[in-house]
Amino acid sequence: MTSCHVAEDPIKKVAIFGGTHGNELTGVFLVKHWLENSTEIQRTGLEVKPFITNPRAVKKCTRYIDCDLNRVFDPENLGKKKSEDLPYEVRRAQEINHLFGPKDSEDSYDIIFDLHNTTSNMGCTLILEDSRNDFLIQMFHYIKTSLAPLPCYVYLIEHPSLKYATTRSIAKYPVGIGVGPQPQGVLRADILDQMRKMIQHALDFIHNFNEGKEFPPCAIEVYKIMEKVDYPRNESGEISAIIHPKLQDQDWKPLHPEDPVFLTLDGKTISLGGDQTVYPVFVNEAAYYEK
Ligand SMILES: [Zn+2]
Repeated sequence: MTSCHVAEDPIKKVAIFGGTHGNELTGVFLVKHWLENSTEIQRTGLEVKPFITNPRAVKKCTRYIDCDLNRVFDPENLGKKKSEDLPYEVRRAQEINHLFGPKDSEDSYDIIFDLHNTTSNMGCTLILEDSRNDFLIQMFHYIKTSLAPLPCYVYLIEHPSLKYATTRSIAKYPVGIGVGPQPQGVLRADILDQMRKMIQHALDFIHNFNEGKEFPPCAIEVYKIMEKVDYPRNESGEISAIIHPKLQDQDWKPLHPEDPVFLTLDGKTISLGGDQTVYPVFVNEAAYYEK
């Protein structure tokens, strides 16, 4: 994916969201730290606001209370009439949209970084929502280059039906950051350090951009969402096979049609099938067992 230089207005308002999923603790702890001491996220001329998006889920250390906050920033939910009967996360989405949006308006925040963890072995991941976003392609190129030799992957969620209405989508430039593997409700120092560096490099990029630094055309490798693969399930909807050991921890690596994907408890291997090689992500992500 390539980008050419485009002249744009300076970036003024940036938010860093943690706790969109209350049991993904790296973002929760970084944001709480920055709320106490924001020195490391300040950049001249830039307003950078750390924010806990789902405080009730954070308090209970659970993904959400009533429904997934990271799926309800669509016009229908954001436009619903205020009522105590609405799911907590829908009410919260409306508050967040009021504070950092409104979505698709001139007044919205310029950039929102939304911090997530995954139980999958995905390392540092940047999530891109729009392949035509030259500014973010340049930013992601900068972050990838700065982190090297530590790998940093770009996951493009542009898809007619699989793209979802994220919390960060109220910003002009939405940036999803996911780092793993880390169990839910757990903090790992290596993961925290990697996420912290991603934010540092991103803010440095914005600072350089605002200072008028020229960024030459660049290209980045992206992995584009193609389809969701659910677990095999029995008639009651219960999972009837587990991730095959040969696929475990193999995120971002090529998976061929004949390669094993699932293993049943009576030892039957289920392979990928189809006729193309894919690059799996969110392999054995804990949050996706319920779907
Ligand atoms: Zn998450």
